[in-house]
Amino acid sequence: MKRSVLVLGAGMVGTCTAVHLALRGHEVTLVDRLEPGRETSYGNAGIIQREAVEPYPFPQEWMVLARAVFKRGAAVSYHLAALPSLAWALGGYWSNSRPARHRVISQAHARLIEHALAGHQQLIGQAAAEDLVRREGYRFVFRDPKSMEKSLTQAEALAASHGVRHQVLDTEALSRAEPGLRSRLAGAIHWLDPWTVSDPGALVERYVRLLERTGGRLALGDALTLRQKGSGWSVQAHGGAIEAEHTVVALGPWSETLLRTLGYRYPLFVKRGYHLHYQGGTAPRLPAYDVDGGYVLAPMRQGVRLTTGAEFARIGAPATPVQLSRAQVLARQLFELREPVESRPWMGARPCTADMLPVIGPAPRHRGLWFNFGHAHQGFTLGPVSGQLMAQLLEGGPTVVDAQPYAPTRF
Ligand SMILES: Cc1cc2nc3c(=O)[nH]c(=O)nc-3n(C[C@H](O)[C@H](O)[C@H](O)COP(=O)(O)OP(=O)(O)OC[C@H]3O[C@@H](n4cnc5c(N)ncnc54)[C@H](O)[C@@H]3O)c2cc1C
Repeated sequence: MKRSVLVLGAGMVGTCTAVHLALRGHEVTLVDRLEPGRETSYGNAGIIQREAVEPYPFPQEWMVLARAVFKRGAAVSYHLAALPSLAWALGGYWSNSRPARHRVISQAHARLIEHALAGHQQLIGQAAAEDLVRREGYRFVFRDPKSMEKSLTQAEALAASHGVRHQVLDTEALSRAEPGLRSRLAGAIHWLDPWTVSDPGALVERYVRLLERTGGRLALGDALTLRQKGSGWSVQAHGGAIEAEHTVVALGPWSETLLRTLGYRYPLFVKRGYHLHYQGGTAPRLPAYDVDGGYVLAPMRQGVRLTTGAEFARIGAPATPVQLSRAQVLARQLFELREPVESRPWMGARPCTADMLPVIGPAPRHRGLWFNFGHAHQGFTLGPVSGQLMAQLLEGGPTVVDAQPYAPTRF
């Protein structure tokens, strides 16, 4: 049966949801206040992370925690003033990160990640987006042999448990693989399965063009104008109100704002991140995560993109790109980065939940309202499978994975 659906938010998650609904013949309108793929789904590191079967836990080791508390290094920072309002969500994150609980959560995360490549492949093919994608993996690079040893143990465990493939590079092999490298590093783990994208925002745009070719449409409008109307929903867009029987909230880090107006409270928070591009120097051939430095360098269309780790802050608080300044110093030890392309860093926010799993499924108290948000560090990776799952749930048919671990009622 054909249904009418509003999808709020044209990031990777909302766009893939809209495409999957349109491919099934539903009447779909994708609504955003901006052009598609301009926020978090634009500024990320562009890695389709097939290796990321385990979500990032809250650090449990005191040494790592102490570095974060004292804001040492580039990996983690926070706004002290934001912590009281984040206490509920971060308390849950801490408790869900204990090893026994994290193992259970990782199983549910892995079930989605396992479908990431196939999900993107289907859409990349139909959207004619091959030119944006490389299938050569990416590398974790290490300064410290001890940290490499620790990651290697984890990589071997992932190979055994989930078949995630990797290759080990010693100092010499890494220097041969990355001729632009300025320092002799301890080595690298080359994850062989992930794909990398040279322009993440452009991939979202291609998926939107696929949506339009499939009969869906894109509208500019403000999701916060969403109202219940009769047995359905209405939102104000440029050109007038749009009505539909169903609405999917896929507003990434802004989902919470709309949810509060509807009376829902979830343990959500954001980990903000920054990026800058550099041109004219040397670039890594493949994206490199400097594990001991806490940032990623990724070759992109616009130049080498330097992306930072997690900043715990309110989404709308002024930018404080101290991690970027530190990461820049560290990255210049590895590659020759000349002047940045942009005069100001880009800032985005990873939409996180206390249990590290996205929220996908029917809203607990509103008929025809659906949620698809909270994909944290892997929303770019998980957009297609989440969109497929959302479309299947809305139709009430069989689903690609068991949706219960992601149910909006679980908190
Ligand atoms: C520095 C950094 C690096 C990352 N690297 C990776 C990576 O390599 N791989 C990976 O898988 N993930 C990565 N991520 C995470 C990933 O980018 C996010 O999980 C993902 O983009 C979230 O997608 P989304 O569609 O949920 O949100 P978004 O892309 O933010 O989309 C939400 C949309 O909602 C719209 N919106 C908001 N409010 C309104 C409103 N009132 N009305 C209408 N529209 C509205 C916004 O304009 C936006 O288009 C990274 C994130 C960061 C910050």
